[in-house]
Amino acid sequence: MVVLVQGLVARRRGPVRRMLGGAEHRSGRTSNHVSTLPTPPAAIAWGRVGRYDLSRDDVAQLLDGEPAYRATQLWEGLYRHGSDPSELTVLPRPLRERLAHDPRLAPSLVELRRSTSEQGKVVKWLWSLAGRGRVETVLMHYRDRSTVCISSQAGCAMGCGFCATGQAGFQRNLTAGEMVEQVIRAAAAARAGGRRLSNVVYMGMGEPLANYERVWASVERIHDELGLSARHLTVSTVGIVAGIRRLARERLPVNLAVSLHAANDQLRNSLVPVNRRYPLASLMEACRAYLDAKGRRLSFEWALMDGVNDRPRDAAELVTLVRPLRAHVNLIPLNPTPGWPTRGTPPHRVRAFRDELVALGVNATVRRNRGTDIDAACGQLAAAEVGSVDSVASMASAEATGAGASG
Ligand code: SAH
Ligand code: SF4
Repeated sequence: MVVLVQGLVARRRGPVRRMLGGAEHRSGRTSNHVSTLPTPPAAIAWGRVGRYDLSRDDVAQLLDGEPAYRATQLWEGLYRHGSDPSELTVLPRPLRERLAHDPRLAPSLVELRRSTSEQGKVVKWLWSLAGRGRVETVLMHYRDRSTVCISSQAGCAMGCGFCATGQAGFQRNLTAGEMVEQVIRAAAAARAGGRRLSNVVYMGMGEPLANYERVWASVERIHDELGLSARHLTVSTVGIVAGIRRLARERLPVNLAVSLHAANDQLRNSLVPVNRRYPLASLMEACRAYLDAKGRRLSFEWALMDGVNDRPRDAAELVTLVRPLRAHVNLIPLNPTPGWPTRGTPPHRVRAFRDELVALGVNATVRRNRGTDIDAACGQLAAAEVGSVDSVASMASAEATGAGASG
């Protein structure tokens, strides 16, 4: 299963050789796409890119013939203000109009639906992606922060049976620009409500480390251009060891969240198929290496499933794995999905499980459900696409910092 999955990802990524300024470059194919453009930047020539896939050089080339400062104005308009080029009144009107009609500066995300709940504390978008696919983004406001949960893939190939995204299967990887644009759109919405977007979590649809290059390019762009510190960026993974090890070598120490859900290989194999490829021993070693390299507190996600992973012996096993790492555990009662019969652990047993962890010396937080009335939130995105789901839990509260859970 895992081999199949990886093959699928590899096939889709086949000719991608490297990233150019956050966008993909397909060597050898560019000449097929450039006939109407004079010296097109590679990122543009590749085809399926939006405004946030362009590098600074790409933007400069788009403005060829204009004074150099125009590129800076356009770049800052896009990133600092999240503006549409048509709204950039610092630019002369004829230029603005030309840019507004330039397909290379088109947005990647078309809003299909926006839902708001809890007095505006949770906003969820369903986007249609240019080309193919739909993804969701969730913005959550807490007392002390505003967090956006973004998708990294349309669907997911990892096949975790309890996850609505996994049940829907894999469609495609998002480009770096499509991820950045989710953040920009959420930041604009936060600003409009008098808030400042402070945190980004890669906990929406998809497995970030199965789309590594593009995810990392988006992390760098968000860090460098939006000014969010690595401390405020969290990558969540199902446990792709090769990706975690690679992450440990990157320049930015982002927070790492690992979706564990089981602390023995037999159970984890059945819940999280990628465990067959990367069993717990190798996963925990990679987590240790990440901790040693970055000094960031790790967090582990644990979706509590009735009678499956919520017994005292599950707590004891979990403690053996995470206590040596001094990691934080985020407990979320499993949300029902159409394709998975197991139910979430009832609240009193969730609390008992948490208490057991705490008594055994592990920091653990029960995450509050948010966005329940709008079918919102991370981790169970795309539920609306595959059927009806009554409630969904907040994952943004599961940021690796583990701080201020449900403010
Ligand atoms: N693929 C990554 C990130 C997206 S999933 C990962 O798996 O970590 C975000 C979180 O939602 C993961 O911890 C995932 O296990 C959890 N999740 C998925 N389906 C869920 C469900 N039905 N109930 C509760 N949590 C769920
Ligand atoms: Fe993919 Fe994460 Fe869902 Fe597993 S839990 S199917 S890795 S999105």
